[in-house]
Amino acid sequence: MKAIRRFSVRPVLPEPLRPLSDLARNLRWSWHPETRELFRSLDPEAWRASAGNPVRLLSAVPAERLAELAEDRGFLRRLAVAAGDLADYVSEPRWYQRADGVLPSGVAYFSPEFGITGALPQYSGGLGILAGDHLKTASDLGVPLIGVGLLYRHGYFRQSLTHDGWQQEHYPVFDPNEQPLQILREPGDGAPVRVELRLPGGRVLRAFVWKACVGRVPLLLLDSDVEENAPGERDVTDRLYGGGSEHRLLQEMLLGIGGVRAVRAYCRVSGHPEPEVFHTNEGHAGFLGLERIRELGEGGPDGTRLGFDAALEKVRAGTVFTTHTPVPAGIDRFDRELVARHFGDDGELPGIAVEDVLRLGMESYAGGEPNVFNMAVMGLRLAQRANGVSTLHGQVSREMFAPLWPGFDSSEVPIGSLTNGVHAPTWTAPAVPADARDLKDAELWELRRSLRERLVQEVRRRLYASWRQRGAAQAELGWIDGVFDPDVLTVGFARRVPSYKRLTLMLRDRDRLMEQLLHPQRPVQIVVAGKAHPADEGGKRLVQELVRFSDDPRVRHRIVFLPDYGMAMARHLYAGCDVWLNNPLRPLEACGTSGMKAALNGCLNLSVLDGWWDEWFEPDFGWAVPSADGAAADDTERRDAIEAAALYELVEDHIAPQFYERNGSGVPDRWVEMVRQTLTRLGPKVLADRMLREYVERLYAPAARSQRELTPPAAEELAAWKARVRAAWPGVVIDHVETSGEAGSGEALEVGASLGLRVRVGLGGLGPDDVEVQAVSGCVDESDRIAGRGAVRTPLKPTRGPDMEGRWLYEGPLALDRTGAFGYTVRILPAHRLLAGGAEMGLLVVPSENAASSSDGTGGLLMR
Ligand SMILES: *Cc1c(COP(=O)(O)O)cnc(C)c1O
Repeated sequence: MKAIRRFSVRPVLPEPLRPLSDLARNLRWSWHPETRELFRSLDPEAWRASAGNPVRLLSAVPAERLAELAEDRGFLRRLAVAAGDLADYVSEPRWYQRADGVLPSGVAYFSPEFGITGALPQYSGGLGILAGDHLKTASDLGVPLIGVGLLYRHGYFRQSLTHDGWQQEHYPVFDPNEQPLQILREPGDGAPVRVELRLPGGRVLRAFVWKACVGRVPLLLLDSDVEENAPGERDVTDRLYGGGSEHRLLQEMLLGIGGVRAVRAYCRVSGHPEPEVFHTNEGHAGFLGLERIRELGEGGPDGTRLGFDAALEKVRAGTVFTTHTPVPAGIDRFDRELVARHFGDDGELPGIAVEDVLRLGMESYAGGEPNVFNMAVMGLRLAQRANGVSTLHGQVSREMFAPLWPGFDSSEVPIGSLTNGVHAPTWTAPAVPADARDLKDAELWELRRSLRERLVQEVRRRLYASWRQRGAAQAELGWIDGVFDPDVLTVGFARRVPSYKRLTLMLRDRDRLMEQLLHPQRPVQIVVAGKAHPADEGGKRLVQELVRFSDDPRVRHRIVFLPDYGMAMARHLYAGCDVWLNNPLRPLEACGTSGMKAALNGCLNLSVLDGWWDEWFEPDFGWAVPSADGAAADDTERRDAIEAAALYELVEDHIAPQFYERNGSGVPDRWVEMVRQTLTRLGPKVLADRMLREYVERLYAPAARSQRELTPPAAEELAAWKARVRAAWPGVVIDHVETSGEAGSGEALEVGASLGLRVRVGLGGLGPDDVEVQAVSGCVDESDRIAGRGAVRTPLKPTRGPDMEGRWLYEGPLALDRTGAFGYTVRILPAHRLLAGGAEMGLLVVPSENAASSSDGTGGLLMR
C-alpha cells in the first residue's frame, strides 16, 4: 500500500549521546573515516541499510541499543574525541587565517550541482563533484566560502538495467528531513526563510533554503517544494537537468537570483560576513550578476544607488566565472523571447530594463545566432575574471569565445586557466599512506593487491545485485563467484556517457579485446560504469552495447558493467584498479578528474592527451594514447580506428608485459616504480588544495581588491569613461607608421639592432590617458601573422600633439632581439587603471590600409 503522506520522525537521543546529532549533521563525516567508523560501530547492520547516511542511521538504531550506548564508557570516550575533533576543526585558524594580503571577507560559490557524498545525490558527474571538492577544500583551508545550489527532490536518477541491457531510470524520493540538512529559519519567530521570485502572469516562485554544513562551509540549497507554490512552480527543483527549456530557465533564475537572496538571508540570520566575491561554476548561475545589479540600483550598503552601467562595473569586478565545457551542447542557450518574457514588466528584476538583460546574453558577434540568449556569454560579460579548467581547456576556451573580442588574437582573450584538483581525504583509500616514499617495493605491491582484492569483492556484490535486478534467479548466478581475479591486471573506465567520452571505443575490435581479456599468461579484466543522460538515446545504446558484450559467457568473468555509477562506487574503482582508462575525443574533455582520483591511490593513467593529462603526463607514471585530432579530426570513424588500435597496442606491448614481469620475489619492479612515481610526483599536483590556493591567490584576492576599489564614485566614473571610450572609438585611427634606422623594407637587419618607431594617431576626442598605443613584435609565420604567444608588446610614448588636425605622435624603440622572420605592428587599446587587461573592452584599432609602407594591409612591416 502506498502512503498518502510521509513524515520523518526524529529520534530523541539520550543526553550522553547528543553530540552524535551534531556529528551527523556536519558532512565532515563524508571525508573523515574515524567519524564514519564511530557511526558504523553504533549498529553495523543499520549503518549498511542507511547507505552511509548517519541521519538515517540515528533514526534506525533501536532505542534499547541507544540506551546501552549511553552507558558504554568506551563508546562515550570515543564520541567525546570525535566531537572535540570536529569542534576544533571548525573553529581553529587554518591556512586562510594565516595567509597574507588583501583577501575577500567572503566568497559565494554557485553551482547547479554539488557532489559531496553518495548519500546526498545532488550531482550528475564531474562538475558537481568538483564543486563538492571545492567546498570541502575551502573548509580544510579555512576559506570563508558559502556554497549555493538547488535541492533537487529527486536528485539525479538511479540507473539499473533491463534484462537486455537497456538503461532504466529511477527517481527515488529524497526527503530532506532524513538528510544532514536544516531548514534556514528566521531568528525571531523561527519561521522558515523564504525566497520569492516574480514570474510573468502574476505567478510567484517561492523557495525554502536548506543548509548543509560541509565542515566549516555552509551550503545553501533552494527548494521550490513549498505548499503555496502552484504545481508548476513547485516542480522547478524536481530533478537535476530534467525538463524543457522554460523549466531550465526557472531553475537558473532560482539558482542565480534566488541564490543571492538566500545568501543575503543567511548572512542576516547567521552573522556570516557578506561575500565580496561571487564565483559561478559554469554559466547556469549567471543571473546572480543581474540580481546584484538590481540590489545596487536600489541602494548599496551605504545607501548609494548605482545606475545600471556603474552597477555592472561593480558587479563584474567582484565576479569570477569558470567555464567547464568546450562542447557547445554543454552550454545553456535560451530563446530570446523566453528570457524577455521572464524579465519583462511583470517578471523579475524590476528596475532593470529588459533590453539591458538581453544585451548581456545575446550572441551579438560573428557566428552567433541572433535570437539566442547564451548563459556562457552572459557569464563572461558579467565577470571581470574568467577561467577554463586546464591549460589546454583555457586555450580551447579562448579560441571558442574569441568572437566576443573581435580583432584580438585568441591568445589575448581574457580567459585564463586554472587546473582542477581533487579532495584527497575524500578520494584516497584510508589504507594508502600519506607518504609512499618510505614503503618498500614489496609493501607497495601488497597494498595494491589488497586494494584490488577489495574491488573484486565489490564488483561481485554489485554484479550480483544487478543480475537479480535484471531478473536472474539466485541459482543461476553461481558464476559470479568466479568473476574477476585479485591477481589480474585491472582496468577501470567509468564516467558519464556523452558521446565524446567514447564508452565503447574499447569494443572497436572485439576479437582483439577478447584476446586480451582471455590471454593465457597476461589477462586483463575491465570494469566499466556510467550513466547516460535520460534523454540521450544514443548514450543508452552505447551502454547496451557494452552490457551485451560483457554478458557474453566467454568473457563475463573478465569484463563487467556495473550500473548506477556514483561516488560510493567510484571510491572503490579508483582505489582498486591498476590502470585508469580515459579516451575522450581530444580536446573535448575540459579537464577530467577521475584519473586524478585514481592517481591518489597509485592507479596508473592510460589516457588520451586531453585535459589535465595533456599538462602533466610523463612516461614515468603513465601512458598517453596517441590522438588523431590533427589529421583525422573530422573523420570520426577513422579517428576511432586509429586511436583504438593505439590503445590495444599499448596494452599488449607495454602495459600487460610490465604488469606481469616479476622479479625473484614476485614483485613487478617497473610497475611498482610507476606506482611510486604516480603517488609521489603526480599526487601533489592533482590536489584540490593546490587548486583552491590558486583560486584564492589568482582570482578571489584580485577580484576582492578590484571591487573594493569600485566605490560608488569610482564605479560611476569607470562606467562613464567606458561609455565615452565606446562613443569615441570609431574616431580612433592609426594613420601613419614609420621607422628610422631601417634599411628599407624587405632587407635583412642584424639581431641586436634597434629601430625607432614613430606613429601618428587620431584619438577621436580621447586623450593619451585613455589609450595605450602599442608596438607588437615577434616572429611571423608564412602568412605574416605574429605568433600570439611569443609576441612582445611595447607601449609607445606620446611625444607631440594634438596638432592642428588633432593628431598625436607616439614614439618608441623597437629592439630586434630575435633572428629569423620578424615582424611588428602597431595598435591602440583603451587603457584605464581599473581594467583587468587590455582586451577587456573588446576594442582595438590597427593601422589603416595605407598607414605603413608594407602592402599586407595589416601595417606589419616584415624583415627577413
Ligand atoms: C570524478 C567523478 C566524475 C568525473 O570524472 P571525469 O573523469 O571528469 O569524467 C564523475 N562521476 C563520479 C562519480 C566521479 O567521482
